[in-house]
Amino acid sequence: MFAMSDAYNQLLDATIQHLEDLKSRGVRNIAVSPETLRSLSQPVKAVSAPAQISKPMPATKISTAVPASTTKSAELSLALPGETAPASTPLDPKEKAAAFAALRERALACVKCPHLAASRKSVVFGVGSIDAQLMFVGEAPGADEDEQGEPFVGKAGQLLTKIIQATGLQRADVYIANILKCRPDTPGQSAGNRKPTSDEMATCIPYLHEQIDLIRPKVIVALGATAVEGLLGKTIGITKLRGGWKTYRGTPLMPTYHPAYLLRNQAMSEKRKVWEDMLAVMEKLQMPISEKQRNYFLKA
Ligand code: URA
Repeated sequence: MFAMSDAYNQLLDATIQHLEDLKSRGVRNIAVSPETLRSLSQPVKAVSAPAQISKPMPATKISTAVPASTTKSAELSLALPGETAPASTPLDPKEKAAAFAALRERALACVKCPHLAASRKSVVFGVGSIDAQLMFVGEAPGADEDEQGEPFVGKAGQLLTKIIQATGLQRADVYIANILKCRPDTPGQSAGNRKPTSDEMATCIPYLHEQIDLIRPKVIVALGATAVEGLLGKTIGITKLRGGWKTYRGTPLMPTYHPAYLLRNQAMSEKRKVWEDMLAVMEKLQMPISEKQRNYFLKA
């Protein structure tokens, strides 16, 4: 390891922090000039500074391999290991199952948010088929989910199950996970939920990215504004976003209302909106749609 000056380390820390901030806001690529890229790929020169304890390298990997002839600015991936866009080659089923099990083990032992690790009963990793074509992403576990260790098992979850069944699928056919794997704590309160903080989301999201990279669903449904924020870094209201296709690193993503919203607002018109989003998802997946299904929630 080279001895590095304080100034160099500060600059490095500031750069890493800046990249992490961008990443937590959903930025996945940044433009970098060819000169910068070339200088990044040069060996670091030793500086005459007192020897320091070497810092572990940050997890963020930047590939600096660019042809010398490159003249335009290039795009750098801000992906963490396991967060890279899924490759097109199929995964070996045994390796996929083993990688998923290993990921689960890591998540179940996670203590990166000490306050959540201390308050949780379970790490709510996810449920369903790891070969699912359709994946649902919610916000965070509530009390029921924390109790049972499974996402979407409370009242909102029961409604989600009904929505899934209305498409002709079963819960076991899809995969269901959350942005946050632990229930957000509510110190001093015996009940109630709170939205995950942006720090909690940024800390937990790599697990979800890895889940998605392994499952490789054909379509992701983001349930509510927090799910959209976690996956796309967009903080635009869900009312504006829902119903319009977005892309999560190459995978079509449909933002829709969270089922908890439908429990609070029982209007047929709101149910129909979610159902229309699901019809669009079914079309994208080339699922059969009956006349009866097309007409759900049209009449009072
Ligand atoms: N709400 C969510 O967003 N996720 C759950 O798992 C349960 C309720």
